Amino acid sequence: MKLLHSSPDVAVIGAGPVGCVTALTYAQQGAKVLLLEAYSQNVKCFAGEWLHPPGVQILQQVGIDLNLKRITYPCGKGFVIFPEDGTTPIQLDYPDGEVGLSCEHSTILGILREAAASHDNIQLLCDTKVTRIDGQKITFEQRNQGVTHTALVNTIVGADGRASTARKILGIPNQSIPISFMAGILLKDVELPFEGFGHVVLGSVGPVLMYRVGAELVRVCLDVPRYFSRDPATLWKAYNSVIPKTLQPAFKQALSRDEVAWAVNLFCSRVQYGRTGLALVGDATGYFHPITATGMTIGFLDSDCLVRSQRFEDYQQERTFRTYVPELLAITLYEVFTKQDESATALRHAIYRLWRSDPMECRHTMQLLSGRETKLLSFSRSFLKGVLLAMAEVVQNNVRQQKWLQIVRDLVSFNQWLYIPIKLALLRAKKLLKIYFNNSKITTKILDIYSITQNEQPRN
Ligand SMILES: Cc1cc2nc3c(=O)[nH]c(=O)nc-3n(C[C@H](O)[C@H](O)[C@H](O)COP(=O)(O)OP(=O)(O)OC[C@H]3O[C@@H](n4cnc5c(N)ncnc54)[C@H](O)[C@@H]3O)c2cc1C
Repeated sequence: MKLLHSSPDVAVIGAGPVGCVTALTYAQQGAKVLLLEAYSQNVKCFAGEWLHPPGVQILQQVGIDLNLKRITYPCGKGFVIFPEDGTTPIQLDYPDGEVGLSCEHSTILGILREAAASHDNIQLLCDTKVTRIDGQKITFEQRNQGVTHTALVNTIVGADGRASTARKILGIPNQSIPISFMAGILLKDVELPFEGFGHVVLGSVGPVLMYRVGAELVRVCLDVPRYFSRDPATLWKAYNSVIPKTLQPAFKQALSRDEVAWAVNLFCSRVQYGRTGLALVGDATGYFHPITATGMTIGFLDSDCLVRSQRFEDYQQERTFRTYVPELLAITLYEVFTKQDESATALRHAIYRLWRSDPMECRHTMQLLSGRETKLLSFSRSFLKGVLLAMAEVVQNNVRQQKWLQIVRDLVSFNQWLYIPIKLALLRAKKLLKIYFNNSKITTKILDIYSITQNEQPRN
């Protein structure tokens, strides 16, 4: 048993995947790290299981090669999209031979916690809940021993997930918006149509995501609309037709035994990064629908950026810029895959056509998806190409059927695809104005005007 650091340089709240990577990155730089986790060592929960190549790379930087350790099965090659109309599946490979990986969340977490616990510079305390932060003084309760400690630490990092205590202490209101539920089902001894790939299957009440998480285990994630029944028989009726035939018996059996893990999919824009001396990373900064499977990869990139940054402001600025596109991509893809109106259907078909006809577009999509490419211009170019193709299709269909008035109505319905990017861009612009001008008189004025246009209370 290691002795408790008498004066740690860094305290990390939460030993989830991002907290562990943050602790390991600081420890690698020679810092003494206190890593505090509210719950016990062994957890089994349904959360992130797919890592994109940049996430795998960050793990390698902190000395963890999951591929060498536990992954003995094909995974992490890219994604295959199964269109709702039953046409040929579309294969999207990671470019330049890069690979990601997929395994059970508990496996990733177990390996990361093991690495943190065995590092000489890290003190990992489980069953230890952070209850207060006053300036740089942190208070935590060791629940198994019934004792409360305080420590003075130069750098505190809130890596405590969606219900972050650090966020609450910073006075950031809970702004999460429910999107849908995710039903997680494990299938034993089945073969996927495209082994090594994540399968995104459309055509049911919500998208279905499937990937291998073990030599004998395949994960099926059903996106279940908020007001849809959670009864296994109803789930079977709604989703069985899109599940590949070879998986259907195991899928039916798992549902009949009610072996379903549930999670709620929430959205909270990633615009809060804390303050000097108390930075937020991972889900504590914000989160979105897991359709793009990027939560952990983005969180690891937060850790890497935080430890590299000289000042808190540099970290905040870089991550505010670099997480806009991944967030936008997750929201847009989810909307395109779930909405059924004319413009969404046309947009989906336009994207399929782009992927089928242009290998450069496939490469570009995978760079955006993996978080390698985060430039807004780059995302907008592809997205607008899709929107223009979709609009052209809608016009052609209406002209063919001589529905002249419908042309205008359908074209107007495309404005919804501009609303989300603009709303998110305004949120970030507001944050960046604050960072750049540090609440000068002119910024205060601009922010007040912004608040009024967004129906918010003007700031005092
Ligand atoms: C259904 C689902 C599927 C997903 N799929 C993917 C995927 O395939 N790929 C992907 O990259 N992402 C995915 N995600 C997102 C991913 O799970 C999260 O982004 C990731 O777990 C965030 O890690 P974190 O360490 O920031 O937070 P968490 O994993 O939430 O960890 C936070 C930790 O802090 C601890 N804690 C909280 N409060 C305190 C306190 N006061 N004191 C001490 N400790 C505290 C908690 O116990 C917890 O261990 C998915 C999410 C969901 C819901």
